[in-house]
Amino acid sequence: MIESFLLNFLFLLFPVLIFLIFFENRFYTYNKSVIIFLSSISMILCMVFPIKLEFGPIFDLRYIPFLLIALFWGYRYTFPLYIVLNMCRFLIGGPYFLHSFVFSTVIYIFVSLLNKVFMKQSPKKRIFIAAIISLFTMVLYLSSVTLIIPALDKGFWLLAFYALTTYAAVMVINMVLIEKIIDNAKTREYRLHSERLNVMSDLSASVSHEIRNPLTVTKGFLQLLKDSQNITGDEKRYVEISLSELKRAEQIVTDFLAFSKPQSENMVVSNLKEEIDYVTNVMIPYANMHQVDVEMSFNNTLKIMYDKNQAQQCLINLFKNAIEAMRENGGILSIDVSEQGNQIVVKIKDTGIGMTKEEVLRLGRPYYSTKKEGTGLGMLMVYSTVDKVNGKIEVESEKGIGTTFLITIPSLQF
Ligand code: ADP
Ligand code: MG
Repeated sequence: MIESFLLNFLFLLFPVLIFLIFFENRFYTYNKSVIIFLSSISMILCMVFPIKLEFGPIFDLRYIPFLLIALFWGYRYTFPLYIVLNMCRFLIGGPYFLHSFVFSTVIYIFVSLLNKVFMKQSPKKRIFIAAIISLFTMVLYLSSVTLIIPALDKGFWLLAFYALTTYAAVMVINMVLIEKIIDNAKTREYRLHSERLNVMSDLSASVSHEIRNPLTVTKGFLQLLKDSQNITGDEKRYVEISLSELKRAEQIVTDFLAFSKPQSENMVVSNLKEEIDYVTNVMIPYANMHQVDVEMSFNNTLKIMYDKNQAQQCLINLFKNAIEAMRENGGILSIDVSEQGNQIVVKIKDTGIGMTKEEVLRLGRPYYSTKKEGTGLGMLMVYSTVDKVNGKIEVESEKGIGTTFLITIPSLQF
């Protein structure tokens, strides 16, 4: 019996192992069908080589991959597993196919339903929930077995005991592994990002200062030239073009300067109220121009220390992106600042064009822009500013629906 149990356990570890070896380095871009395929195989193997208990009855761990996919990915991705499970069960034959079919349908419908709620929980809670659900599934399974085999002998209770304990234990082990893989991938992405920001901020400060002076001098002389009487209309046009290009160069330099270290004369300890109000007021004309309504709510008493200018610039970048995402059809920009425990939560939500998963991943890379006149520095600055106050940024976005930026910043402890 131990052998058959270990074999089943191996079948379930197999997708995790393959994923770790071949796909972990593309955690954010791998194809989900690979996992579905591997899970199907492990499910089939579990069914073909079930666990044989000493006293007769057999059972298997087929529902572990099924439940995991249903919880993590919901209806759409569980459907292939649902088909595979029932086809395989049908081919294996024997009595009670109908029972298995009805049972898997019930599980498919109800567990996939939990997917959205499940994904919102913390990793620890997810492990706990998955364990409870696997227990619950088994209780349901065992009670349905009593309906078709009414005699409740000692064998049944032993089966119940083995089924419940192995399901819960195997589920917890699998979940711990999966959550660890997710956590590792996130940490690595975060480290890469901070590394990039550090290099950027060191370089940008020095280079930007050096470039700014020659730019200012050039601009001054070109302005003088433009007002001169001795140049032709054509020449005047060239000068104007040069001036507008210079203005763009200056904008980029200013964006870059924002990365440099916070300036001590700008540091404040406050609750962001002033900055939010200021930036909202500044952006309202721009919003009106694009038929965007701005909604604001502020409920925060927690304080943090930050560079006032950088905070304003950071908010402007976020609001500007949000409004630009809605410039075709208008929409609503809602800003919500609140406190959660000792964290300030800034939520910036738009109903604009949204982004795909890949686009969200590219956010914050230097020069990544999908706009004709974009510099692709705005989000980089946002990430670097939030990083400086030890904050975290989460982005939820759906193409065509809109985007939500959720920024959480730990407050100062007095
Ligand atoms: P820029 O605004 O100059 O293009 P950013 O760094 O501010 O550069 O933004 C980079 C890209 O991220 C944008 O070009 C856009 O494609 C995308 N983006 C940023 N914010 C949003 C948003 N709220 N909705 C949709 N796309 C966004
Ligand atoms: Mg921008």
